[in-house]
Amino acid sequence: GRPGCECNSCFSGPDCSVRIPNCAADGQGGDPLFLEPYWKRHAAASAVVFSGWHRLSYITTDGHLKSVELDRQIRRLHRAVGNAVVDDKYLVFGTGSTHLINALVYALSPEGNAASLPASVVATVPYFAMYKSQTVMFDGREYRWDGTTAAWANNNSSRNPTRGFIEFVTSPNNPDSTLHEPILAGSSAIVDHAYYWPHLTHIPAPADEDVMLFTTSKLSGHAGSRFGWALVRDEKVASRAISYIEESTVGTSRETQLRVLKILKVILANLHGKEDIFAFGYDVMSSRWRRLNAVVSRSTRISLQKMPPQYCTYFNRIKEPSPAYAWVKCEWVEDDDCYETLLAAGINSLTGTVNEAGTRYTRLSLIKTQDDFDMLLERITEFVDAEKHGR
Ligand code: PMP
Repeated sequence: GRPGCECNSCFSGPDCSVRIPNCAADGQGGDPLFLEPYWKRHAAASAVVFSGWHRLSYITTDGHLKSVELDRQIRRLHRAVGNAVVDDKYLVFGTGSTHLINALVYALSPEGNAASLPASVVATVPYFAMYKSQTVMFDGREYRWDGTTAAWANNNSSRNPTRGFIEFVTSPNNPDSTLHEPILAGSSAIVDHAYYWPHLTHIPAPADEDVMLFTTSKLSGHAGSRFGWALVRDEKVASRAISYIEESTVGTSRETQLRVLKILKVILANLHGKEDIFAFGYDVMSSRWRRLNAVVSRSTRISLQKMPPQYCTYFNRIKEPSPAYAWVKCEWVEDDDCYETLLAAGINSLTGTVNEAGTRYTRLSLIKTQDDFDMLLERITEFVDAEKHGR
């Protein structure tokens, strides 16, 4: 049970432990509630209180949009975990990493001159669907600022074809959890490391790409705080991304920055101790993956991505996999819409059509509450057990 929590759709009662009958097991969303029990264990240490007079100003301690202290703690965390090189990077904060996706596309695009073509934004299948949905939504072809009315009296424009590429890379990937590198030579890559933390993947080496994206959502589970950051090597790209943030929100919420600062301090104080958040998260996630694999390995009807054990520099040992998502393939010819096949068995998932991977694939989230996972595993077990009668 989860006393004092908001219940999700399949559970009710004061501690959200009463199951609502005939509800589809929810494997759809990416809500990182697997870390809620960790924060319940550190409830007092992780609490923040601020008075009504606190943080009224637009201005923060560095005179801009960012808490200097939070900047320092984020760098400390990357150094301690060994998952990113921070020393030669600028830090840009966003309202979740969602906010930074388009900020970085903007920052890497040719500066507003009529001489260059719009940059081509690309990703490899199966990709995180938001890269496309945001790029399409903010696509400058649908509207543009065209100067003042007076300028239209005398308008001429020239064009000169030179096209750059902006490649989205997600490592580990969402949905299939594998590590990836850019594949287009000479492209500007935005490397999204939302899941590049030791509870959700092994860490072979500190990441050192020119433009990297991180988020508290998958690091600490604080998705609702809406906080993400970009590590950017080039000063001009960083300052263009900051301009975008200034234009769109005048910076991330000061309350959020204060809360995240507290959360990072608790994480840092416990690293490599018995209350290490990554050890906690890794135990939860590797056990979920092991249990799911044990069931699915008996199936000819569905299969999961293959993930070998790998050496992790953070834990300093070989680790079993602990992915955030199961990438399910329906193997039987008749199951040509895998999402529908699972839904018919009472399991909700995210269809592979959103990643342009096709209907043979669907994604199951493994990072939700223990109740959600248990229900998901029960339904998958029933589904696999029914195979010998079914065909
Ligand atoms: N990137 C990836 C790869 C994600 O999976 C997600 C969330 N599921 C995000 C970015 C956005 O996360 P947030 O806005 O919560 O930081």
